[in-house]
Amino acid sequence: MSTTTLPRPPRVGLVSLGCPKALVDSERIITKLRADGYQMSPDYAGADVVLVNTCGFLDSAKEESLEAIGEAIAENGRVVVTGCMGNEADVIRKRFPDVLAVTGPQQYEEVVSAVHDAAPPAASPYLDLVPEAGLKLTPRHYSYLKISEGCNHRCSFCIIPSIRGDLVSRRPDAILREAEKLVEAGTKELLVISQDTSAYGVDIRHQPRMWKGHEVRAHMTDLARELGKLGAWVRLHYVYPYPHVDQVIPLMAEGLVLPYLDIPFQHASPKVLRSMKRPANEAKVLERLKSWRSIVPDMAVRSSFVVGFPGETEEDFQYLLNWLEEAQLDRVGAFKFEPVSGAAANDLPDPVPDEVKQERYDRVMELSARISAEKLAAKVGKTIEVLIDRVDEAPAPDEGPDRGHFDAPHHQHHHDVGATGRSKADAPEIDGEVHLRDAGHLSPGDIVSVRVEDSDEHDLFGVPFSG
Ligand code: SF4
Repeated sequence: MSTTTLPRPPRVGLVSLGCPKALVDSERIITKLRADGYQMSPDYAGADVVLVNTCGFLDSAKEESLEAIGEAIAENGRVVVTGCMGNEADVIRKRFPDVLAVTGPQQYEEVVSAVHDAAPPAASPYLDLVPEAGLKLTPRHYSYLKISEGCNHRCSFCIIPSIRGDLVSRRPDAILREAEKLVEAGTKELLVISQDTSAYGVDIRHQPRMWKGHEVRAHMTDLARELGKLGAWVRLHYVYPYPHVDQVIPLMAEGLVLPYLDIPFQHASPKVLRSMKRPANEAKVLERLKSWRSIVPDMAVRSSFVVGFPGETEEDFQYLLNWLEEAQLDRVGAFKFEPVSGAAANDLPDPVPDEVKQERYDRVMELSARISAEKLAAKVGKTIEVLIDRVDEAPAPDEGPDRGHFDAPHHQHHHDVGATGRSKADAPEIDGEVHLRDAGHLSPGDIVSVRVEDSDEHDLFGVPFSG
């Protein structure tokens, strides 16, 4: 009797660097490759070709990307490079002449065909191996939803518009269809990302499309409302404080969108903001924050700031600290200004010396840690909703603490098992977490009520609420 052996499907290894946006690109590429019959390899050794999705935003990120390419060449030898650094093919080829192909960001067709050249696909791909909503690198219960590419602004420290081009918005019905599939496939949280979410649809003049029998404009407010109806948490990232952002606040009050805004302010001093060429820098942000919070008192605001921007004086910096004290942001990330090759800000006069940058960075972090600690402490004793990200392994019966004679040895009790999740105020990877005890009965993706028992500078600690 003879058996037919199918050819072994070619395997692709993936190294994905950079931001959530790059992760979305990686997911799209892998989904296509899986549809073409490829398998993913968890290590270099088993891969027929290694795909490195690079980040080229900061010079330090470029260096990290180059190191990752070097490692893939050393470990495997057959390497295709894609992502933001792909725009600097000459730099990559000069350092690594053996790289098989270099493609830029969003060049899905090119990168897929480069992989086809490097490791031809098997004759009979199993198309049905591809899950409904594409293959996801993020855990099943949360998903990034990219609503546009590119950016119409020209912030002086940023090279994204020169890498990714001007704003190109996706059709609202296409975004909603993708979101609906993700929710059907188990997503509990949709993270809306772009370079500037508040500008969504400007390029297509907010043109409406039909969705479920009615028109939906390509506009942040319409999109947020429709996403909210799908039944998952909806979290808005990269929102600039334009006046029309006021319209999404009532959606938070209605529970359609999470009471969370990620607004990359970058600075507060009007002089520095002007020199950064930041969008919406004239908006009266402190007043707006106050009025938003009067509608949605538990709204969490996260932001990032750059310290040591060229020309930033001690007075400018003090302005930022005072502003932060008043704004009472829930989460703050800070970066020391770093010149990015090709950015206009590099030519600005009065660079800030490194030790001053470091000192300002420490001061801003100290202040924001204190504010965060105070805000989190105010949640102790309250009951909050938590989306579970992971549940600890149950300890083996003989490793667990002595439970006395009540537990039979074969009967594992969930009391000793911890879990980690996030509240509505915490985006994955960038914000804090909620650590739970007595959580062995939970699974990732569950949304549970939690009584908060303790807090520190970043995280909350609690126990699932039972009655
Ligand atoms: S808004 Fe500014 S920082 Fe953000 S992508 Fe556009 S140019 Fe860059």
